[in-house]
Amino acid sequence: MTALKVEQSGAKIIDGKVVAKKMRADQKAQVELLQAKGVTPGLAVVLVGEDPASEIYVSRKVKACEAVGIKSISYRLPATISNEELLVLIGKLNADQNVHGILVQLPLPKHIDMAKVLETIAPEKDVDGFHLYNVGALVVGRQIFPPCTPYGVMHLLEYSDIPIEGRNVVVVGASNIVGKPMALMLMARDATVAICHAKTRDLGQWTMLADILVVAAGVPNLIVSQMVKTGAVVIDVGINRLPDGRIVGDVDFEGVRKKASYISPVPGGVGPMTIAMLLENTIISAQRFAASDI
Ligand code: NAP
Repeated sequence: MTALKVEQSGAKIIDGKVVAKKMRADQKAQVELLQAKGVTPGLAVVLVGEDPASEIYVSRKVKACEAVGIKSISYRLPATISNEELLVLIGKLNADQNVHGILVQLPLPKHIDMAKVLETIAPEKDVDGFHLYNVGALVVGRQIFPPCTPYGVMHLLEYSDIPIEGRNVVVVGASNIVGKPMALMLMARDATVAICHAKTRDLGQWTMLADILVVAAGVPNLIVSQMVKTGAVVIDVGINRLPDGRIVGDVDFEGVRKKASYISPVPGGVGPMTIAMLLENTIISAQRFAASDI
């Protein structure tokens, strides 16, 4: 298979802000249709503690909900909350007919049993796609909601008309919320997928094989141009704050853009898509609710 062409001026930039904005217009229209049927999509956003990064993510999500007409209901809970209290709240949200999606912002304080919390969310309201059912169902392609970040990456690839079938894809990062579901989604589209992680020996030897390279490790400058095949598509999921306050991804953007055919920037690449897919999942959940005539 021939590689995608590298432009003289360097890689084409995959602009997640533009794609998310286009999606927003459609999402607004979908919400209006639902409202005409008497259903306003509702997203419960649960934030435990005062982690500054989580505060920022949550406020962006709440703002994005407002922009399309989704009603977000925020629960800001002290870091001292007990497991039981949190599980009781989730139980109430599961039963609330005005709540179509439940998002518990991660990470949670150490004393909270994260797995138990995620498993308590009703799978049909699990708009983040982290419930054991949704994670397991990815293997057989029967998930109720795909997890937002890898789902956003799939949208970026589709929007940019990047062929996936038969391509060599290398995913760097094997977490449960990004790397592993990403690999499964790409396999479902008939890519040949390798997953690398912190114990992978000679990472560059693997990344050089990639027609499409997805990086989600949380390590600034992990991927430099010598590790990338000419013409590769490079998707940078990483979000890292440098000591000087700048936000960067895991890829040396300036170096790699000269060699890649497409590259997603940080910020402005995958980040806006994660939020767009959260809204998408919430609207789909409300549509399912409206159709079920409960
Ligand atoms: P995580 O749970 O810490 O997982 C990181 C993964 O990367 C692990 O599998 C780890 O390997 C691997 N890794 C770490 N150092 C590596 C190295 N030097 N070489 C190869 N692999 C390495 O992180 P995550 O939640 O998946 O997030 C990954 C990054 O994406 C973070 O920067 C995070 O902020 C960002 N993120 C962005 C979005 C978005 O919306 N754009 C959403 C979620 C996450 P081991 O498994 O061997 O430890």
